[in-house]
Formats: sequence, C-alpha cells, structure tokens
Amino acid sequence: MSDFAAEFAAAGAWIDRYLSEARDYPVLSKVMPGEITSRLPAEAPESAEPFEALLADFQSVILPGITHWNSPRFFAYFATSAAPIGITAEALAAALDVKAMLWRTSPAATELEEVVMRWLARLIGLPDSFTGIIYDTASIGGFTALAAARESLGLDIRESGMIARDLPKLRVYITSETHSHIEKACIALGLGRENVVRVEIDGELRMRPDDLTKRLDGDIAAGMLPMAIVATVGTTSTTSCDPVEEIAAIARECKVWFHVDAAYAGAAAVMPEFRSILAGVESADSVIVNPHKWLFVPMDCSALFVRDPEMLRRAFSIVPEYVLQHRDASSGTNFMEYGLQLGRRFRALKLWFVLRYYGAEGIREHLRRHIALAQEFAGWVEAEAEWEILAPHPFSVVCFRHAPSGLDQAGIEAHNVRILESVNADGRIFLSHTKIRDRYALRLAIGNIGTTRDDVALAWRLLREAPLESQ
Ligand code: PLP
Repeated sequence: MSDFAAEFAAAGAWIDRYLSEARDYPVLSKVMPGEITSRLPAEAPESAEPFEALLADFQSVILPGITHWNSPRFFAYFATSAAPIGITAEALAAALDVKAMLWRTSPAATELEEVVMRWLARLIGLPDSFTGIIYDTASIGGFTALAAARESLGLDIRESGMIARDLPKLRVYITSETHSHIEKACIALGLGRENVVRVEIDGELRMRPDDLTKRLDGDIAAGMLPMAIVATVGTTSTTSCDPVEEIAAIARECKVWFHVDAAYAGAAAVMPEFRSILAGVESADSVIVNPHKWLFVPMDCSALFVRDPEMLRRAFSIVPEYVLQHRDASSGTNFMEYGLQLGRRFRALKLWFVLRYYGAEGIREHLRRHIALAQEFAGWVEAEAEWEILAPHPFSVVCFRHAPSGLDQAGIEAHNVRILESVNADGRIFLSHTKIRDRYALRLAIGNIGTTRDDVALAWRLLREAPLESQ
C-alpha cells in the first residue's frame, strides 16, 4: 500500500467516524478569538512532517475551532448537509485537479456540467430554454447575472465604462428581505447603493407588485433606467416567497431583467406539490438555486440558470491568446467566458454523484421529512402558552419567540437574546436569530440529511428550559 493509500484510508476512517458522531460535538465552537492562532506556529515548517502529526493536530488544534455545519443538530442560518457521497465526489475531483475553464481542459467536466444542469432544471420544472452554469456561490452567480443585466442595456459599459459619461441612473429593485449579495453586486457594478430600490412588502413579507409598478413608473418618469428586478423564493430571514408570476409580468412589460433568487427554496420545487413556488419563472432572465444549501451537495455549488447565455458571454468573454489558441465552432462550451473566473473547480461531479446516489425520490423524501419536522416544531411552539410564531413557515425554517406577559418589545428581545445565548452555550444545538419588522425572532432551520425528530425535540426542550434557567 502506498503512503497515500494508507493516509487516505486513515482520513476516510476519520470522516466516517466523524459523520456518525457529528451530533456529539458542541455544534457551535466554544473557542475565543485568537485561541486557534495562538496554538499555531508563526512560521511554516522547514522540514517535512509526518501525516500522523498532521492528522493529530487537525484533531487537537483545528477541530475545537470548528462549528459543526454538518451536524444534524445544526439549526442556524440555513442548515445544510454535505452528504457522504458528495464528500467522496469532492475527493475524486481533487484527485483530478481539473480547471474546468475550457472544453478541452477537460471535456467531461464541461459536458457533465451541461448535463447535470439540465437534469437539475428539469427536476425543478425549469424549461429546457434555460442554460445552467455552476458558480461557487449564489453571491457570485447573482453578481454575474446582474453584470449580464447591465450589459443587456446596450450602453456600451463593457467598452467605455461608466465614469465621466452621461448615463442615466441604473436602478435595481429588491425588498427589505432580499439577500445582501444583491446590494454588494450593485456596489461592485458601479451602480451605487442609492440606486438599489426597496419595494414595499406585504403582511407576509412578499414584494408588493403594485408598489413595484409605482416605483418603476416614478423612476422612468424621472429619467432613470430600471436595470433589474430581483424576486426571492425563500428569503434568508423567514423563507417568504415573492409573487414571481406577477413580478415576471411587470418585468416583461417594462422590459427589465428579471432575476429570481431561489438559492434556498428552489430545491423544494423538486417536489411536485411545491412546483408552484416557481410558477412564472419561465420568463425570468436568470434564476439561482443552491445545491449546497438544501440539496445535500457539499459547499460549494450554486446553479445559475439563464435564458440567454450569450448575454453572460457579452459581459465577460475575453479570450487571451495564451488560453485558447484555436477557436473553432466545434470546440464545445468554454465556461471561462461566462463569468469572472478562469480556473473553475469540477463541481458538477459532486452534484452528479448526489443526484444519482439518492435519486429524485430519495431527495424528495428527505425534503418532505425536513418540512414535516419543521411543521411539527411550529405546532409545538403554537401550542405552548407565551410562545409565538412570527412568520409563515412554508418550508423547513420556523421563526418564533418566547413572549412572557408583562414584558414590552425591548424586554422580549432581551429575554430571547438570553434564551439564544443559553441554548447555544449548552453546545448540543445551534440556532440563530433574525429580525422581522423590528421584532427579534429565534429561528430554527432544518436541512441536515441526518436530522431526526429526536434532534428537533431536543431543541424544543432546551428552548423551553432556557427561560426557566435564566429566571
Ligand atoms: N440568496 C439567499 C436567499 C440566501 O439565503 C443566501 C445565503 O444564505 C444567498 C443568496 C447567498 O448564498 P451564497 O452563500 O451561496 O453566496
């Protein structure tokens, strides 16, 4: 056996043990800032070190500083899962060390990406007219889509830039619930934060189409140029869903780029009973779904679907001589032309493995189980005196709080902050919080493939005990 085989087998055995024991680790790392740094040498080693020393330090130095995202008791942010088969695929991809930038730098990487993106599109009900490309994150995919939206305006910004030119203000329409990466993209694209327009939301935290129309009309009358409308299916805070169909109709009428951020909840559309969340999406210009959020693919894997990939190429394609010498029509897709990155990881492999290993039915089963657990948890909260649900919970995230009588809003917030700190310090579970119309909310997100009813019941027990302990 080669050294590599022995070392890989040892790492494999460690991973196997870790995955089976993941729920026994304190979910939220308990180290203090700087603690890990202080345990690491200031210089890289001059001499080679044995694998055993690396694995030992990985366990003794690094692990205490890990927050266990892959634990079935991780209920914070959007809970996610790196399925074991996805981990295996990552190792295989690392062995190949492909840079999937040109078709010829690994034809299989490019063509598999095209095929699994088509699979994913069909699984969530997107028409074949969409082309899918994998990026590392929704933040980068969202930026890429908005860069294409800017290019689609025909203002020659690619060649002439935006500085010292007599251009109208380019406007992007979002809501208070839209993920912050859209605003960051607008900053990076030179639009300026003041041109990010927040459309009003309704009682269920969804974009109000009437207010969108009002703002578009007002901006156009003032000589501004609407560049993109962004709807979210499954907002980060509460998983609310903007009315895609109505917004799509408005975008079509105004001829404005329509981007749908379904990074989290898009996965739910693999279940026929949830297909309607993406109704109207067929006329969107770009749609994002993150398999690394709720489709059990290890970080990172974000799928961007676009109706006109040529617009991405127009925004980004630069082909240096040293990269592509003989450009012929039969050379297949060169993904480096569709975004910022040149070298690209072979991410399609893990998505392919996960989709095949579980099958669509297996994935649907896990998602349905997560949703059922979240609904059961919401039922427990609703049934308990002085606990309340703070937002609709159509998927696997529940926003709630403990609201003892006699406390004002500030008092309730301080009380729930203490509850959160107390349950997270316990270490057996990890939850996060949000604010919903200025009201502090605890947030339980279910998304790990191994999460059981017992895990969720433990979370509820710890949450209920926390106020008693803090009295
Ligand atoms: N969009 C939504 C709705 C999200 O909730 C998030 C992250 O949670 C993102 C985009 C950003 O995702 P990523 O981490 O892939 O950039």
